Amino acid sequence: MGSVLPPDNHVHSQWSWDAPAAASMVRSCEQALTVGVGCVAFTDHLDFTDWTEGDRIGAEGLDPRRYDRMRLLDVTGYLAAIEDCRERFPDLRILSGAEIGEAHMFAASAGAVVARAGFDRVLGSLHAVPFDGRLTAADRLFGRMPAADVMRRYFAEVVRLIEGSDIFQVLAHLDFPRRSWPQAAGPYDEKAFEAEYRAVLGALAASERVLEVNTKSPLASVGLIRWWRDAGGRAVSFGSDAHQPWRVGDKFKLAVDVVEAAGFRAGRDRFDFWRV
Ligand SMILES: [Zn+2]
Ligand SMILES: [Zn+2]
Repeated sequence: MGSVLPPDNHVHSQWSWDAPAAASMVRSCEQALTVGVGCVAFTDHLDFTDWTEGDRIGAEGLDPRRYDRMRLLDVTGYLAAIEDCRERFPDLRILSGAEIGEAHMFAASAGAVVARAGFDRVLGSLHAVPFDGRLTAADRLFGRMPAADVMRRYFAEVVRLIEGSDIFQVLAHLDFPRRSWPQAAGPYDEKAFEAEYRAVLGALAASERVLEVNTKSPLASVGLIRWWRDAGGRAVSFGSDAHQPWRVGDKFKLAVDVVEAAGFRAGRDRFDFWRV
């Protein structure tokens, strides 16, 4: 039996600054083989807590410290761990990578690291938006403004991320604050934000990049993935966003059903993105 599930292109290890005690690159590789994921990309967080010449955040005068515990990725240690796992698990395709936070604000900083590391997979993420003179974690905005306004502010900044950075190939969790959507605001309804989703998807498709279906977030609907096709999107990436080994490939069968229903298929290269 070969693997039946798509590559998991979004996995964290002990090298991420928010890693829980159970995080382990080795254990995540074992889990991938156990559940039938034939390829994993370790996309540990590449977040910057300071800025350098050429980073937009400096020009905008925003405080970059959006999470207290945030620290810079140890690229050398991380790459050595990748090499070690490639030797231990020859039957698993292991890609190096990073999930860059707010790359449009840190173009120079991110560019220097990516050039040095030569990652196989680079994800672009937005976890924080400019608010009150600083980059503020998006989930912390709930309670400070109506929930729908948090989403709209987030989507608008995602468009700025896409248009302001070409360093990443895959847009991760396009509606990240949805994870923290308050119960009091009623059920989350993708259609209430159709225009905002379409703006994000249009910008991403115009730059010929890849949409991630993230299985840590509430799963995207078939309708949402169809909006991606309508926008001209041609490729989908699957990502568990696992921070603990047991979550590698989590909910991938459901995600495959959604993506297939929207017309995307595995290619001849089973380690590639899924395409129309
Ligand atoms: Zn993320
Ligand atoms: Zn992640």
